[in-house]
Amino acid sequence: MVDASDLKSGGGFLRVGSSPTSGNEYFNIGEKMKWFQKRKGIEKESKKREIPDGVWVKCDSCGEILYRKEIEKNLMVCPKCNYHFQINSSLYKKILLDEGTFEEEDDNLRTLDPLNFKNYKKKLKEAMTKTSLNECIISGQAKIYGRDIEICIMDFSFIGGSMGSVVGEKVKRAIYRASDLNLPLVIVSASGGARMHEGILSLMQMAKTATALNKLETPFISILTHPTTAGVLASYASLGDIIIAEPGALIGFAGPRVIKQTIKKELPEGFQRAEFLLEHGLIDLVVSRKDLRDTVNTLLMHLC
Ligand SMILES: [Zn+2]
Repeated sequence: MVDASDLKSGGGFLRVGSSPTSGNEYFNIGEKMKWFQKRKGIEKESKKREIPDGVWVKCDSCGEILYRKEIEKNLMVCPKCNYHFQINSSLYKKILLDEGTFEEEDDNLRTLDPLNFKNYKKKLKEAMTKTSLNECIISGQAKIYGRDIEICIMDFSFIGGSMGSVVGEKVKRAIYRASDLNLPLVIVSASGGARMHEGILSLMQMAKTATALNKLETPFISILTHPTTAGVLASYASLGDIIIAEPGALIGFAGPRVIKQTIKKELPEGFQRAEFLLEHGLIDLVVSRKDLRDTVNTLLMHLC
């Protein structure tokens, strides 16, 4: 299952056994007490080791302290308030696809540093080590309830799911394969937008993917997860025949602060959230993670 370090909402993790006051509570004490403190310190240390990190998770929405194993079983959705924790591409693969059917394509494509952008190579290396991925998207063929599909899944934990040349190329190739093999296409998006380290080359991926999709004649289901924003939303993510979003997902082009400054008006409650966008017609469905696989299957039954 998903590892604590794979989740961007890392701030929500509670470390059991540590205390913000430890080390200071016996300040200015006699020798006896110092000895006692040392003993206590040892006991505290051993207690800490008994309880592994990340056993408990704090819900970012309702603040409830949840047993990690319990929410993992619940597909990283808070049982109290239905908050959908951010998850990685590997878990989406498990949730959506028939087990063992995913055959990855284009995993040999590697991101270069065409603009010689400061620290980009280092950042890429770190992201690769952290996520065990080559880029923030995986693509290939798989099955859903026995039906062949072409699928791309983005991963926010790899440089914020930002779209550079390789992401655009992988999406384009997946679209072409769907076309050539007459397969429906499913793309799970999670992105902060175009990758600044590749400048205009990243922006050009918007036109490239949109043009490729324009020629696609098989059904395309776009799944928007938290967050799907900027250049990715403004290209392939919003061009699905059916657009699904997870509950509470942040979906938008520019950030709310920029919009507020530009239009000089207060923004309505829930602005840019999945439910708000459903109400205003930008997306077609808001679907809970546990129903995602069945919903995609039902839609494909109707569309194919
Ligand atoms: Zn909650």
